[in-house]
Amino acid sequence: PAERSLNFIEQIVEEDLANGKNGGRVHTRFPPEPNGYLHIGHAKSICLNFGLADKYGGKTNLRFDDTNPVTEDTEYVDSIKADVRWLGFEWENEFYASDYFDQLYEFAEKLIRKGLAYVDDSTAEEIAAQKGTPTEPGKESPYRARSVEENLDLFRRMKAGEFPDGAKVLRAKIDMASPNMHFRDPIMYRIKHAHHHRTGDKWCIYPMYDFAHGQSDSIEQITHSLCTLEFEVHRPVYDWYIEQLDIFPSRQIEFARLNLTYTVMSKRKLLQLVNEGHVRGWDDPRMPTIAGIRRRGYTPASIREFADRIGIAKRDNLIDVGLLEFCIREELNKTTTRVMAVVDEKPIKVVLTNYPEDQVDTVSIENNPEDPGSGHREVPFSRELYIERDDFLENPPKKYFRLSPGGLVRLKGAYIIRCEEVVKNDAGEVVELRCTYIPESRSGSDTSGINVKGTIHWVSVAHALEAEVRLYDRLLTSEDPAAEDRDFKEFINPNSLEIVRAYVEPGLKSARAGERFQFIRKGYFCIDPDSTDSQLVFNRTVTLKDTWAK
Ligand code: ATP
Ligand code: MG
Ligand code: MG
Repeated sequence: PAERSLNFIEQIVEEDLANGKNGGRVHTRFPPEPNGYLHIGHAKSICLNFGLADKYGGKTNLRFDDTNPVTEDTEYVDSIKADVRWLGFEWENEFYASDYFDQLYEFAEKLIRKGLAYVDDSTAEEIAAQKGTPTEPGKESPYRARSVEENLDLFRRMKAGEFPDGAKVLRAKIDMASPNMHFRDPIMYRIKHAHHHRTGDKWCIYPMYDFAHGQSDSIEQITHSLCTLEFEVHRPVYDWYIEQLDIFPSRQIEFARLNLTYTVMSKRKLLQLVNEGHVRGWDDPRMPTIAGIRRRGYTPASIREFADRIGIAKRDNLIDVGLLEFCIREELNKTTTRVMAVVDEKPIKVVLTNYPEDQVDTVSIENNPEDPGSGHREVPFSRELYIERDDFLENPPKKYFRLSPGGLVRLKGAYIIRCEEVVKNDAGEVVELRCTYIPESRSGSDTSGINVKGTIHWVSVAHALEAEVRLYDRLLTSEDPAAEDRDFKEFINPNSLEIVRAYVEPGLKSARAGERFQFIRKGYFCIDPDSTDSQLVFNRTVTLKDTWAK
């Protein structure tokens, strides 16, 4: 990648290193909540956290932020690990916030003993009412003045399971008049009699995000705790707990989250798409999940390149999904083998009337003109070929360089042909073109002296493999669905998946799931794991050119 100037987080890190802060250590963490699959926004955070540690000789922990027992699952834990590794990163430690439940509980008692936390019997509604609005001070809870002894006793009984869900909470005693709502006695613990995917039934009280996150950072001696902008207003609380507990001072730094055009990124919304059957699963190639993008045919390098190009900003913005496509197109252009695929439910058969009936020849096709070392391969050529219906027009406009009655076109890597006769069925549809080929025009040894402007791709009917091709379009029709005043599901594109038949070169028979190709003139395609021995399935990763209206 090209040299770029330092982003503001790198500047902070370099300053810290120059000042000898943290003993010259850089230690970041990536803290997903295991309540869904990772998406491209998480990829940005992963590249940032791991990239920073790589750049400055530091380390990165993978920490599962699993403080909410209800929505979490080990299926998600496994998928998250696979996705981080696939992106090309390896963590220093695999940790779980739930491993710190005992320690966090001790921290809570410490704050109670310092008179900085209290057990509150108010209901959720009462607490919300006490908090009030940002423009006027809140009201103190009637339970705020409880003694340390009473608070300790009640908190221990909360832990012991004496009270039902919602009966009590533990709150920090900070400032009900603060202009920052997060400072108005935030909740530290709530009662939830729920089974946790790791701690089982050991706990019936669970710490809130704000009470768990900074302390987890501190326990792991994280130096730079990077999170998205919405946590900026939480930072005073993050710092307050660390200060009152007198523990390692991790520093929280906020950056702009990734928003992509025509995409929703919240796990809650992605879960809805999955659960309500709008897509085939978390790894549906239309999904912005890492699993979906991978299945679509994206490479880890293209995603890292994308993360690098969008950079790190302090203000929220909306990135054109075309940039993501640009990154994969650039890479695949350099790396993929060019193959011929007639992607058409109803291809047109071309019969070369002057080509011997049982003769099978081969022609040599360059694997990748962008990669001189990639060589050539032999592709069977015979009297009967398929071409795409779009490559023939009965009444062509001027400057139409594909096939038309009486016209000439070159067959990629083979010969120039002339269309002599158009055969139609009873419905008036063109079913066959009877053509002649010009033997002296063979590509590479053309002595015909004929110049044609158009080259089209083809496959030999007798040799072609039938395949299924999945063509994807945007999943959502709104450029910025989150900014709409209607539910994002109203913008689901009913035509985001089109399944068509294709006829591909026989050499693809041995291709494996995940392999990527350029279909000449069509785009980049990747073999889907749904492929079987008898039927290949391709996903279109991206078209050849940016065809989106700008
Ligand atoms: P969502 O809102 O999609 O459910 P989340 O923030 O709740 O996401 P977490 O699992 O808590 O998901 O996120 C793990 C890390 O990834 C956090 O540090 C979070 O800030 C970061 N992250 C999440 N979404 C984005 C995004 N769109 N862009 C950049 N970073 C993100
Ligand atoms: Mg979160
Ligand atoms: Mg979330």
